[in-house]
Amino acid sequence: MIKEDDAAIAAALEDLSIPTMMLSLVHMTGDPKWIRGDIRPQGLFLNEVQGFMPEEMQEEARAIALDVIKSYRDGGCVMPPPPSRALIAEMMNWLVCDEVPEEYIPMMLEDMELDGRDARAVEWSTRSVDARDEFPVVVIGCGQSGLLAGIRLKEAGIPFTIVEKNPAVGGTWFENTYPGCRVDVGNHFYSFSFEPNDHWSEFFSRQPELQAYFSDVLNRHELQPFVRWETEVLSARWNDSEAMWTVRTRDAEGEERELEARAVISAVGQLNRAKFPDIPGRENFGGPSFHSSRWDHSVDYKDKRVAVIGAGASGFQIVPTIAADTERVTVFQRTAQWMFPNPNYHEKVGAGVQWAIRNLPFYGRWYRFLLFWPGCDGGLLAARIDPDYTHEADEAGEQATAVSPVNDAARMMFTDWIVSQLGDDADLIDKVVPDYPPTAKRTLQDNGSWLSALRRDDVELVREPIAHVDEKGVVLESGRRFDVDLIVYATGFQANKMLMPMEVVGRGGVVLSERWGEEPAAYLGITMPDFPNFFCMYGPGTNLAHGGSLIFHSECQIRYISGCLKALIEGDGRAMEPRQSVHDEYYERTQRELETLVWSSPHVKNSWYKNAHGKIHILSPWRLVDYWNWTRKPNLADFEFDRDESDFGLS
Ligand code: NAP
Repeated sequence: MIKEDDAAIAAALEDLSIPTMMLSLVHMTGDPKWIRGDIRPQGLFLNEVQGFMPEEMQEEARAIALDVIKSYRDGGCVMPPPPSRALIAEMMNWLVCDEVPEEYIPMMLEDMELDGRDARAVEWSTRSVDARDEFPVVVIGCGQSGLLAGIRLKEAGIPFTIVEKNPAVGGTWFENTYPGCRVDVGNHFYSFSFEPNDHWSEFFSRQPELQAYFSDVLNRHELQPFVRWETEVLSARWNDSEAMWTVRTRDAEGEERELEARAVISAVGQLNRAKFPDIPGRENFGGPSFHSSRWDHSVDYKDKRVAVIGAGASGFQIVPTIAADTERVTVFQRTAQWMFPNPNYHEKVGAGVQWAIRNLPFYGRWYRFLLFWPGCDGGLLAARIDPDYTHEADEAGEQATAVSPVNDAARMMFTDWIVSQLGDDADLIDKVVPDYPPTAKRTLQDNGSWLSALRRDDVELVREPIAHVDEKGVVLESGRRFDVDLIVYATGFQANKMLMPMEVVGRGGVVLSERWGEEPAAYLGITMPDFPNFFCMYGPGTNLAHGGSLIFHSECQIRYISGCLKALIEGDGRAMEPRQSVHDEYYERTQRELETLVWSSPHVKNSWYKNAHGKIHILSPWRLVDYWNWTRKPNLADFEFDRDESDFGLS
């Protein structure tokens, strides 16, 4: 119920996304006229906050909205019947100033939950209650994906244990506490579809708020009793005769225990095993040094000389945050990074937005769609290599700087953004404009803070190679040296050594790390032959470089995994694993597809997307809508069961 008076409502409207607000009026009144008149967005931008409309149009829209909301309030907030599907499609098109293709609408509707239904939850038959009770599952990790797995297993009534090496939930959002750490995907979308949050204080939250969100979700779903905190999984071994996994753990006291499970869900993430650079002499440094993901808050960087080695997504956030407090910061960046202009990156969410999410019908859900859509599959367009396109720099025998006309347009837009901030500082422009195609490495978000930090007198960007580290600091190959008090290694993670250092041993003693090496592969990123009843979340080939959100992907994966568990339990199966041919065909198709995308560009030498041999195994090249479709329900014909699958009745 809306209790606020007219003035308070009018004040709240000042903060809102006007297009989103107009759609809420349609829900409030059942009348589509609000989106059939002259008021309409003039374009769509990724991460927009208020919408792209002339100021007078915004004023007119607010005046209309105030009247409508007042009537809605005075009438007791009674909503008319929901809009028809055709009208919803019209609302989508109106909001994004384009036609949302029919194939996307079911996925978007599911994500928005306009019908209030958590459609991604799997429905279980009442007759399988006892069978579920005898099907214990171990989940490894309690980051966003492990937490999600726990929620779905609890809903299903399947006994489970989550084993988490940290003392709290959040995974990467628990571990990365470095100054400036925040998410790059708008939070009103970067959250579980069934657990929207009305009180994000910033559009791109900082780490403490994210961790608090996951902690709240954990508590709301009463999952604490199911988690063994500060306990690491050492190994998981498949026992074929029993059709059981034995999961060996070690807790904080060093005590080792075994858990028996019918299935294992690995939810260990890709970005949590720190990678230190192979720079000689690191151990000789006399002062404190640590990895960005293990920030030592007992070390005071104030008024100190700080070296930040590595400037990808982490370094990019650290440097602008600490620069003003230090004596000086030297940033050692091997490869320049493309950045995407995002003026709202550090913006606070107005109180009016929080109020609207709570009070205006479906405001929050449409705002989620507004964030999701432009970051959905459009990113693949700019990533696709046009084999008939040759960039002029390539013709001149220089580094290729674009792989298609669309990619070149992104290059120009990103370059303009950089140059617009650096004016005539040719030296700095030369250092910060990358010489490889845009989006080939992870594109960073920027609201100007990175480049303004680099322009400070007490910050220096060094692009020359490091020779070694010694007791006092960092020495370049040129012989130039930088004496420092603290070294921060923002040098990323061992993403290609997936699931390490756990020892996972499948059927016939096959060791997963040996099978994979640095070429991890799994059918749909989830299942592997010879590893029955072992399921990955955020597994091989599922990292997203072109858009979406990993939470969206996790929701796809857990639905698929739940479907597999259902097939096993309700079909009285002991074990399932993907057919080798299905797995291999998917792997080869994925590899072929990756080769058509900019991340594979040979012009990019250093990228955590690539393994030591320059091959990509961790990224998904697929449209989100395809992955969503493929994972809605397992195709049981893709699997071998230890009994005839025709008995399952669940195809
Ligand atoms: P990263 O992107 O892998 O960046 C590592 C940095 O260290 C790069 O500048 C890299 O240079 C440099 N480096 C690595 N080894 C080096 C060596 N031997 N010598 C010199 N430089 C070296 O790692 P990250 O910044 O921690 O980010 C990893 C991923 O975590 C991100 O891509 C993102 O997916 C996620 N993340 C997200 C956020 C967010 O959402 N806001 C924030 C942080 C991290 P090269 O570029 O030359 O390899």
